[in-house]
This record gives sequence, C-alpha cells and structure tokens, in this order.
Amino acid sequence: MPIEVLTPEVVSKIAAGEVIERPASVVKELVENSLDAGATEVNVEAQGGGVELIRVSDNGTGIPSSEVELAFHRYATSKISDLSDLESFSTLGFRGEALPSIATVAEVEILTRAAGEPVGSYLCLRKGEIAARESRARAQGTTVTVHRLFRYFPARLKFLKSRATENSHIAYLLSQYALIFPEVRFSLMLDKRTTLHTPGDGGLRNATSQIYGVETAQRMLEVKDGDAFASVSGLVSPPSLSRTSHNCLSLFVNRRWIRSPLLTRAVEQAYHGLLMEGKHPIVILNLSLPGREIDVNVHPTKTNIKFHQEQAVFATIEKAVGGALRQAAVAKPLRPLTAMTGSYQLESLPMVSEREPTLTAPLVNLPVLRVLGQLAGTYIVAEGPEGLYLIDQHAAHERILYEKILSQRSRGEVEVQGLLEPMSIELSPREEEILNSNRERLAQFGFDIEPFGTRSYLIRSVPALSDRANLAEVVSAIFTSLDGRDETTPWEEKIAQSLACHAAIKGGQQLSHEEMLALIRQLEGAAQPRTCPHGRPTMIQLTSRQLEKEFGRTG
Ligand code: ADP
Ligand code: MG
Repeated sequence: MPIEVLTPEVVSKIAAGEVIERPASVVKELVENSLDAGATEVNVEAQGGGVELIRVSDNGTGIPSSEVELAFHRYATSKISDLSDLESFSTLGFRGEALPSIATVAEVEILTRAAGEPVGSYLCLRKGEIAARESRARAQGTTVTVHRLFRYFPARLKFLKSRATENSHIAYLLSQYALIFPEVRFSLMLDKRTTLHTPGDGGLRNATSQIYGVETAQRMLEVKDGDAFASVSGLVSPPSLSRTSHNCLSLFVNRRWIRSPLLTRAVEQAYHGLLMEGKHPIVILNLSLPGREIDVNVHPTKTNIKFHQEQAVFATIEKAVGGALRQAAVAKPLRPLTAMTGSYQLESLPMVSEREPTLTAPLVNLPVLRVLGQLAGTYIVAEGPEGLYLIDQHAAHERILYEKILSQRSRGEVEVQGLLEPMSIELSPREEEILNSNRERLAQFGFDIEPFGTRSYLIRSVPALSDRANLAEVVSAIFTSLDGRDETTPWEEKIAQSLACHAAIKGGQQLSHEEMLALIRQLEGAAQPRTCPHGRPTMIQLTSRQLEKEFGRTG
C-alpha cells in the first residue's frame, strides 16, 4: 500500500496520543517500522542513553522517494487505509504517528531507498519541518537517525533517568524483539559498544542463548500447543531454573510484544506450587490468534491489548505452559537411562505412562511435584504427572539430611558447631567402651567428646545439624546403633542415620507452604528419594490409573 493520510473518520477511531515517552520508545517505533518493512537485519545504535543519538537501519522495503515526506505527516500510514483494516492487520504499526511524533521532539534524518529505485532519498527535519532534501546513495532499506531527543522539552528530559538506565531500557526492549523475531539479525551498539548480536537463523533457542546464555537456553522447555481458537509457542523455564526478577516474562500476541496482567496470571497459575516465593520463571511465549479476537487499539504505545474472550485465552496459556512443565516432569526419571544407553533409547519414553500401577513407584527419581497441602500435620499431599503423592514429612526430611550428612563427610566438609557451653554427659561403662573405640569416627562427623572425671564426658562440638535440646538422646542413639547387632550396615551409615533421624522435622509439626515446597524440592534432588535411610518408604503414590479404577471411570 502507498503511504496515505488516514481519513478523519479512521483517526477518530484510533487511540491516538503521545507515543514518545523516553529514548526506548523511539527505538521501539523505529524497530517496529523496520520489522513491518520485512527487514531481515536491523542494526540499532544509541549514544548518551539515546538522548544524544539513536540510529536504526534496516534492509527492508524502503520508502519510495515520492512518499518519504508523507511518512512524516501525522496519521500517514501505508499499513491500514479504512475502518475494516483496523480489525485485521498484521503489522506492528498502524497509526501513522511515530515518525511525525519523533520529528517534533528531536532532529531526524532519514535515508531510504525502495526496491527498483536508482538512488536513495535523504531528508532532514528540524522541529518537525523539512530542513533539507536530497538524493543519496544507499542500498535498499532505511536508516533513521534521531539527534538530541527532547532538546526543547526540558520537562521530559528531567523525567529521564540516568544514561545507564535509559540504555538498559533500550537493551531490554531490543532483546524482546530479538526473541520474537529470531529470523532477524539484530545488533545493538550502546555508546559504541556492541551489547547484543543475534544470529538471525530462525531458532528461538539460539536467540534465547544470546539473551539469557547458552546453558539457560538449553534447559528451557519447549511449549507448543494449540486448538482451533489459538496456538501458543515458545520456551519456558523448568521449575529448577528461576530468577528473582520478574523481568524475564516475555509475552507476545501475534508477535507483538505486550504487557498483559491476564497472560501473566495464566503463566503464574501454571507454575503455581512449583516455585519458591520470590522466584520467577523465564518465559518467552507467543500467542497466535485471529485479529478479530483482540484489540490492539487501546493504548498509543500498543503494548496493551484487549482480548474478547479472556477466559479462553487464560485457559489456553495455562494449559500450554502447564503441559510443558508436566511433560518435562515425566521425562525426567528416564534421564539416567538415556544417559546410560545413548540417546536412541528415546522411544522408550511412553513406557512411563504405560507402566503398571503400583503403590510405590518403581522409578528411582522423582518427577517435579506440586504441593497441594498437609494432611494430619504429618503428610505432604502433592500432585505429579503420575497422580497423587502422600509424602511422610519426617521420612522425607530424614532422607535429605542423611544424604547431606554422608556427602559432607565423604568430602571432609562436615559443618561443625562448637558449644559455647560444653555439655556434660554420663556414660555407662559399656558406652565408654563404645566411645573409646569410635572416637575417631565420631570426630569425622563433628563430635568432640572428651573425658571429664569418672565416666563423665564433655561434649565440646557437635555436627551443625544437632539440636542442643536432644543432644544426649542423639549421642545415646548413636552409641546404641554402633553397639547393635546389625553388622551389615557400615558404621558411617549408622551414625548418619541417627543424626538424620534426630534432626529431621517430626510428624505432627505444622509446615508452611514454603517449607513444604522447600522440602519437596530437596527431595527431588535426593539420590534415593523414595525411601528413608532405614529403607521405609518416604511416599505413597496413587497413580491416575488407580484413581480412575477406584472411581469406576474405567472398566
Ligand atoms: P506506522 O508505522 O503506524 O504506519 P510511522 O509513522 O511509524 O507509522 O511510519 C509511517 C510510514 O512510513 C509507514 O506506514 C511506512 O510506510 C513508512 N516507513 C517508516 N519506517 C519505515 C522503514 N523502516 N521501512 C519502510 N517503510 C517505513
Ligand atoms: Mg510505525
């Protein structure tokens, strides 16, 4: 379409307004224009936080020389022409406001050459008026340079933050476009330093690794889901990967970067119970749906969007993200297997869901569990991809501590706690005997016990885990186990068992949601999460199959 000034009728329908709030707004509008022009390469440069200079150049369609001036008219656009277009347009811009708005708050130069034209057109604007026009050489594409932003607008200049802050807004903005247009090569130079460079090879994971690093990009889970109403695609972080900042939520609708409380809530809902408080996921999601389902025309910056069917949108997002998280959780137990037998074993994945229902699952590793609540102050109720889990909080904590204690000892890094006030204990001759033949072993776990008169001993230091209140009990339990008839359990395991058992939270102790979550996350990391150190189960699993059977949902 040629550039034309919109009719007053259309203008009255668009949410017109000031779009340039800060340097990043200029970058946003110019980059959007480049993308709308089909550019495969977009280079952005900013100096002095964008106030001194912003330059965006692209290899897009360019503007025909006969239309360059018109592009700076308010409400002149090539992207829509009448009211019906407002309902279905696929470009990022549509208001014809950006270039004229920028030209009123800064000095602007444009050099552009459209396909099929022999030479480029150069235009320079001061205070919104054309100050110079000439022909200049240029390859196909457009370069817009913006100097001295807000020079005559001191109130706005005052509102700006430091150079560094404005730079970071620009970098953040560009990273969003880099994520959603992975087929475009983006580069960003801030004060002559290249801060971003994407390959433009079309892969979201590659673009992601430029923004978040290779390791994070590799760990991200793929989201691909959809129905007749809408489709969702992108990458989301597994529960084990999170950030303390909530700036890692990149949401797009039809590849338009948006802020949406609705979508944010849907994503949060999908992660509910999977992340610790204060932790946020890394999310890059694009929702594609027909233009008639949305209204972009609610705010001049076009970052707000109205959905006509909010509930359906919410459900679609939650299902897509939740599905990816559950899928990852199912795949997790098989990791050791595939690692051992090579990646060709991937076909065995479906076996996980086809296995026979059992009360204690045969798989060693734990999937990611969602904490639902606490039962009788003793069991944690959780949901996983394979049904319902009841976890004995004491047994689970015992397992966690047991593995921690043993690994600390084997690394020689036992955390020791010196007692400011040594504690005295009385030992029976038998116990004295045990102490004397195990002193070195006990020392390896952090116990320093020395004689103090007849059969009296002073405990000077203990493992950091121990609680002074039941210290005498712990020591006595350790002595008993070392003295016991059990000859199959190695002595270090006996000591670790006694320590873990006494330090673990007890049944009957009320736990907060956070505490339960922390416990479950640690249990997931355990080598043998399904049994306590004594070999009793830490959990009972009711598979979805069993539930269906019990409720007579299947034959
Ligand atoms: P809008 O993007 O809403 O149409 P703008 O003021 O941003 O309004 O741009 C006006 C017009 O100038 C666009 O419709 C487009 O035809 C043209 N234009 C602007 N930037 C570019 C560019 N980088 N490449 C090609 N055409 C451009
Ligand atoms: Mg535009």
